[in-house]
Amino acid sequence: MLPFKLICHEGYDPNLGAHVFPSQKYRLIQERLLSEGFAGPADFLRPEPASDDDLLLVHDRGWITRLKLGTLDYLELMKLEVPYSRQMVEAFRLAAGGTILAARLALSSGAGSGGFGIGFNLGGGFHHAFAGHGEGFCAINDIAVAIRKLQQARLIERAMVIDCDAHHGNGTAAIFAGDPTVFTLSIHQLHNYPDIKPPSSLDIDLEDGVEDGEYVRRLGEGLYQALGRFQPQFVVYVAGADPYREDQLGGLSLTMEGLKSRDRLVFGLARERRLPVAVTFAGGYAARIEDTVTIHCNTVKAAVESMCNESRA
Ligand SMILES: [Zn+2]
Repeated sequence: MLPFKLICHEGYDPNLGAHVFPSQKYRLIQERLLSEGFAGPADFLRPEPASDDDLLLVHDRGWITRLKLGTLDYLELMKLEVPYSRQMVEAFRLAAGGTILAARLALSSGAGSGGFGIGFNLGGGFHHAFAGHGEGFCAINDIAVAIRKLQQARLIERAMVIDCDAHHGNGTAAIFAGDPTVFTLSIHQLHNYPDIKPPSSLDIDLEDGVEDGEYVRRLGEGLYQALGRFQPQFVVYVAGADPYREDQLGGLSLTMEGLKSRDRLVFGLARERRLPVAVTFAGGYAARIEDTVTIHCNTVKAAVESMCNESRA
């Protein structure tokens, strides 16, 4: 039995078909973890979809209404880059419910072990969603919804987002702009989508083709700087698989080993600082989908490893 639940739902996959976003990855990740014997059926937990009230903690009522009714205009659909369907809207609601649940489990498991705990959503990380519109395959910002939900319940005051997707976390940065209670860190390829990058609390801009060594060094420096400026009570880790060298939408050059080092750095620091972490997956567009699945599974394994180090410490 794993030291934390893996949150997922068959509804995470809106069946986008031949779309560049491989929505079937959610099912494949589960299948991989099961077939390797790394996880058993009892390790998985299904979330409830986030309610309208949850989404309205972050999103404009008009956006949520248009999503529900299917009345997005042409420009809104162009920006979202995902074909409209009720199933798609439900997938985003479930992902937000999954990240809320991961956040709650991270906090509750951390409460019993001096702060460090992990909640793991095998999905979510839709960091390009803004309060009033969606972008880049992201309609609902599950990261922001989960943070606002914990704040509303007075479980935390201050949160940090550590966004390691290859693309800038523009929606998250915009949602939390000027909010002293949420620190947003984004490490991303500078010359890539999105064109306009609203400032995060800390942006680590990487040139094209950055490799393992420089990535891990810059991330490590950024994390220490961030934690010197801000003391979070809770962290959301956005563990995008797209910094991988064979990604079709990313232009960084990390290897699988480099991505593992990244995961270990984030979990190791959270353990050292006694911070609860909710994990989300975000992007991953490797030429071979099996690689995206491997990278995401490796993040699960790094999280389990950090909890095992914990029990040995
Ligand atoms: Zn991405």
